[in-house]
Order: sequence, then C-alpha cells, then structure tokens
Amino acid sequence: MVTMSTAPKIWTRESGLVEKRDVWTAMKRGFRGRCPRCGEGKLFRAFLKTADNCAKCGLDFTPHRADDLPAYLVIVIVGHIVVPAVLWIETNYTTPVWISFAAYLPFTFVASLALLQPVKGAVVGLQWALRMHGFDENPPDGIPPV
Ligand SMILES: [Zn+2]
Repeated sequence: MVTMSTAPKIWTRESGLVEKRDVWTAMKRGFRGRCPRCGEGKLFRAFLKTADNCAKCGLDFTPHRADDLPAYLVIVIVGHIVVPAVLWIETNYTTPVWISFAAYLPFTFVASLALLQPVKGAVVGLQWALRMHGFDENPPDGIPPV
C-alpha cells in the first residue's frame, strides 16, 4: 500500500526531491513502538521482532539493521543507573549480601527488559530518519541493495 505523505520535502544534490524526515520525531515514535513515518502503525509484531511493514502507511520495516545496538545502549543506560546506586548504597550502608542481590539483580533484569523494545524502536526510527541501509528510496550508485 502506497500513500501520499504530507511531510515537507527537501532537496539534495545526491538524492533529488525527497521527503524530509525529522530524527527526534522518528525516534520518539519508534520508542513508543509505532511506525517512524506515520506514528500510528505498530512497529513490532513480537517482543523484538519488527513487523514486515506498517499497517497504516505501508512503510517497509525489513531494511532496518538494528543488530546489537539496542542491547548495547540498554547496557549503557541501565549500567549508568545501577552501578552508581550500588556504589552509593554499599559505601554508606551495611546491607546483608542476600538483600543486595535480592534488590539489584531483579531491578537490573526488569529495567533491561523494559528498555529493550523501546530502545530498539528508537534505533529503527533513527535509521529510517537518516535513510540508513534500505530506508533510502534513492540510494547513490554503487551501493548494492540490502
Ligand atoms: Zn506507518
């Protein structure tokens, strides 16, 4: 399904007249699990499996190449929350080891799972907005199709 977009157009010497894509809007839509182009269709069909295309605007999601970046970003984000908190608690309070493990491990596990899908959606939105991989409808010559 192909629909006409009302998004503003930009022109570049390399690609000609193309649809302008806002990076932050696309990342926010992806973070919410929605299509980066229209913001309405679902981006995921399973926890980390993207749908083949948007049910509303028909955008093909298969060219994304998120790979390990979402997991890496989740590790960075959760690590920057958990490690300072653990260091602060352990230096200022004397807590039994079992309480420490009972608090830190479940929090780390749940926070990682909660962030993984939104971060992957944001990465897919970023790739779409920057026309990375197969998201460029007018790729320069010499780049093989995905
Ligand atoms: Zn869409």
